[in-house]
Amino acid sequence: MESKGPMKKEGSRTLFLWVIVLFLVGCAVNPVTQRSQFSLMSPQQEVAIGRELYPLYTQMSYGLFQDPTLQDYVQTVGKRLASVSHRPNMPYEFNVVNGSEMNAYALPGGKISVTRGMVSKLHNEAQLAAVLAHEIGHVSAMHHATFYTRQTVASLLTGLGASMLQAGGGAGGDLLAQAGVVAANLVLMKYSRDQERQADELGMEYMVRAQYNPAGYVQTIALLQEEGQRQPSLLESFFSSHPLTTERIMASNRRLEQYGPGLRTPEALRKAPFREHTRYLRQVAPAYALMDEAKQDLSTGNAVRAASLLAQATAQAPKEALIWVFRAMAEKKAGKGREAVLSARRAVKLYPTLYHARYVAGVVLFDERNHRESLEQLTEANKIVADQPSVLFYMGRNWEAMGQRDRAARAYHAVLKKVQKGPMAQYCYQRLVEWGYLR
Ligand SMILES: [Zn+2]
Repeated sequence: MESKGPMKKEGSRTLFLWVIVLFLVGCAVNPVTQRSQFSLMSPQQEVAIGRELYPLYTQMSYGLFQDPTLQDYVQTVGKRLASVSHRPNMPYEFNVVNGSEMNAYALPGGKISVTRGMVSKLHNEAQLAAVLAHEIGHVSAMHHATFYTRQTVASLLTGLGASMLQAGGGAGGDLLAQAGVVAANLVLMKYSRDQERQADELGMEYMVRAQYNPAGYVQTIALLQEEGQRQPSLLESFFSSHPLTTERIMASNRRLEQYGPGLRTPEALRKAPFREHTRYLRQVAPAYALMDEAKQDLSTGNAVRAASLLAQATAQAPKEALIWVFRAMAEKKAGKGREAVLSARRAVKLYPTLYHARYVAGVVLFDERNHRESLEQLTEANKIVADQPSVLFYMGRNWEAMGQRDRAARAYHAVLKKVQKGPMAQYCYQRLVEWGYLR
C-alpha cells in the first residue's frame, strides 16, 4: 500500500518501552530468596511499566466499580498485606474493576486489580485478603520480571487495540456486539507451577503476618475450585493465569495445619467488616446478573429481550454506568436508536472517563446522524484509550458524512495501520482507493 497523505505518527511510548527492554538488562536481588537473579527489569522500570499499563488494564476490565467505600476498603486491606510483604516499598495500588467474571491480576510494580465478579463471590475479609496476598506474592517474588519485558510489553502497547478493545466484525451494525465492548481479552501473565506454589506460600504467610485467619486462604481456593466446576467460563482467565492444581490445594491445606491455632478464629476471618463494605455491591448484584443475562441474549441476537432485561436492570441500579452502556447497545440493536442515544448519554454522565461509555455513545450518535456530538464522544474515548481502530473508524465515518474527505482519509489510514483484515479494514481500504489516496 502506498499513501499520499502525511500520516506518520508512531507511538513514542512504545519506543520508550522498547528502549527499556532492549538496553537495560541486569541483575537484581530477589527479595524473597535473597539470591541474585537475572532480570530484564529494574524496580524503577517495573514501576514505570505498571504505571503505564494500570489505567489501560482498568479500562479493559470495564473500568472501576464506582463505589468509593468498596474501593477504599480493598485498598486498605491490600496495603495492610503489602506492608508486611517482602517488598513493602513498592508503590502498591489496589482497585476493583467492573468485570463480571472472577479474576484478579497483578501488574509489574504492585498494581493489583480484582473484579467485581470475584469480590461478589467472597464471604469475608480473610478471603479477599487471600486473593490480594497471592497477587502480592507474585510481585514480591518478582515473577513479572521475565514476562512483561521479554514477551509482551512492546506488543502490549501496539497490539493492545487489536486484541482488546477493538471492534471486529462488520463495518456497520454488528460492530458493537463483537469484541469492541463485550470481550476484554487481557494479556495476562501465565505463571508456572513453581511460581504458583511460591505465591501460595507467600500469600498465606502475609495473611498471617497481617493477623488474618489463614483458613481464609484455603476457603478461597475451595471456592474458586467449586465455581470453576460450576461455571468454567467465569474463571477461564483466572485459571489460565494461575493454574489451580490438586497439588496446590493439598499443599495449602497442609500449610494451614502448620500455623498454630492463635489466628484460626472466626474473628480473624473478619466477616462483619466485609459485609459492611460490600453492601452496595450486594445491592446492585441482581442488576448485574440481569446485565449478564442480557449479554447472552445480545450474543445470540435476541436484542429485544436484552433491551427489556437491561431496562429492568437500570431501574434496579440506576447509577451503574456500565449497565446503561449495555442498555444502549441493546437498544441500538433492537432498532431503537433514539433511546440508545439517551441511555449512552446517561452512561457518559455517570462515568465520563469510562471508555466503553464514550465509545458506545459515539457509535449510537453516528447512527442517529448526530455527527458533531458523535465526534466529541469519540475524541474523548480516544483520550482514554488511544488509537483504538474502531474509534478511529467511526471518527472517519463521521468526517466522511460531514463531507470532510481529507480528515476521513487520515482516520481510515490510521485504521489500516492497526488492522488489515475484516470488513472494517475493507471499508477503509475501498474508500481510500476510491478517493485516490491509495493505489
Ligand atoms: Zn498466581
